[in-house]
Amino acid sequence: MQILSSTPPYPLIQYIVHLFRKSCSSRKNEGGTAFTSKVKIFDTTLRDGEQAPGIQLSPESKLIIARALSEVGVDVIEAGFPINSPSEKKAVEMIVKDLNSPEIAVLCRPIKEEIDFCHEILKKAERSRLHLWIATSSIHMKYKLNMSPAKVIDKTIQAIRYASGKFDTIQFSSEDSTRSDLDFLGNIMREATRAGADIVNLADTVGCALPEHMALLVREIRKSVGDKIPVGVHCHNDLNLATANTISSIRAGAKQVDVTVTGIGERAGNTSLEQLSIALLFHQKHFDVDTNIHTEKLGSVCDTVIDEMGLNIGMTQPLIGENAFRHESGIHVHGMLNNPMTYELVDPKILGLLGKRYILGKHTGKAAVKHFLEKKGCELPDMEIDRLTTLIKERSVGSGLLEDENDLVDFAIEKGFDLEPSRRTGNE
Ligand SMILES: [Zn+2]
Repeated sequence: MQILSSTPPYPLIQYIVHLFRKSCSSRKNEGGTAFTSKVKIFDTTLRDGEQAPGIQLSPESKLIIARALSEVGVDVIEAGFPINSPSEKKAVEMIVKDLNSPEIAVLCRPIKEEIDFCHEILKKAERSRLHLWIATSSIHMKYKLNMSPAKVIDKTIQAIRYASGKFDTIQFSSEDSTRSDLDFLGNIMREATRAGADIVNLADTVGCALPEHMALLVREIRKSVGDKIPVGVHCHNDLNLATANTISSIRAGAKQVDVTVTGIGERAGNTSLEQLSIALLFHQKHFDVDTNIHTEKLGSVCDTVIDEMGLNIGMTQPLIGENAFRHESGIHVHGMLNNPMTYELVDPKILGLLGKRYILGKHTGKAAVKHFLEKKGCELPDMEIDRLTTLIKERSVGSGLLEDENDLVDFAIEKGFDLEPSRRTGNE
C-alpha cells in the first residue's frame, strides 16, 4: 500500500509484473511448473462458431474461412461436425483437399459408425484429428444421454479403442466439465487416456466458470492424466469471462485452448482468437507463453469471418469494433497525439488493422482541432481555435460528428473562418 500511495519506484505495470514474477517463482519453488512455453490454438470457428443460431455457411464459405485460419497460424482447425449434413461433409472434404496444414479435426460422437464415417473423410488429411466428445455432468447424462455414469465411461473407452490407429490424434472432450463431479471427471479422463486419447479437453459448456474454477479444474485433471497428456480447455462467454478463463487455464498448465474468430459461437460465444492472442502478446514477458499466431493477420481473418458469416459486430467489441481504436475525448486525443500508447493497449497495426481514427464532436479539445487543421496545411490563431472548438461541440449535439480532417476544414470554411496556409510544408 505504501508503494502505491507514494511515488512508485517504477511504472505501475512493471510493479504488477514484478509482483507476478515473485508469486510465480515462489509457486515454482513449491513444486511444479506453473507455466508452459507453447500453447496450441485449436480454432473452432467452423464448428462451434457456425453452430451459433442464424449462421449458415456454404462449403465454399467454410473453405474461404479455413484458408484464412491457416494463414493466421492456428494449430488445429475444427472443420465441422460432418455427420450433421451432406453440406457439412462436403465442406470438410473440400478443406482436407485444399489445405496441407494445419491439423484438421472433426467432431464425432462415440459411435462406431460415426467414427468410420469421420475416418473416411479424414484419411486424406495431412494430419487428422478425431474430436470425440461426451457429456459428463449429471444433468446431461440424465436428461440428454439417458445413461448412467458407468455407461458413459464404458462408451468412451470402447469408442477411443475403436478409433485408435485410424487418426493421427484422438482428442477426448467432456461436455459440461465445469458442472461435472470432479472425481468422476478425473476418472473418465484417466480412462480415456488409458484407452488411447492423446489429449483431453475440458469444456465450460454453459459458460458458468470463474477463472479460479478453470485453473483448479485444469490442475486437477493434469494430476489425473499425468504429465504426458496435454489438457485443453473450451470456454464460453456467458459471463464475459471466456478470455479470462482461458488465460487462467493457461496459467494452470493448459497446453491447448479453443478459440473462435470474433468469439462467435453458441449463445454469447467462445474465447475470441484476437483477444486471447493480444492478451498473451501484451503480457508475454510475464506469462512466458507463445503461440504460432501471426497477429498482423488477425484483422483480415476477422474481416473474412464477419463477411462470410454476415456478422454484426458491436461498436464496442474489443479490438475489432468500430470504437476499438477510435477517439474523440479531448484529453484522450491530446495524450494520443503526444504518445499513441497513452490510451491504447497496442497499436492497431499489430493486428494488421488500418489504424486509429480520431473524430470531432462534443468531447473534442483544442489540441485535436489544431492538429487536424495542420494536417490539412491550415492554421488559425489560438483564439479562433477556441471559437471553432466551441462550434464543433455545439454542432455535434444536433448534427453529429465530424468524421475526419476534411469534414473539419469544410465546417470551418462554412462558418467563415479564414484558414491561413500553415507554415508547415506538406500534409502528414
Ligand atoms: Zn462450445
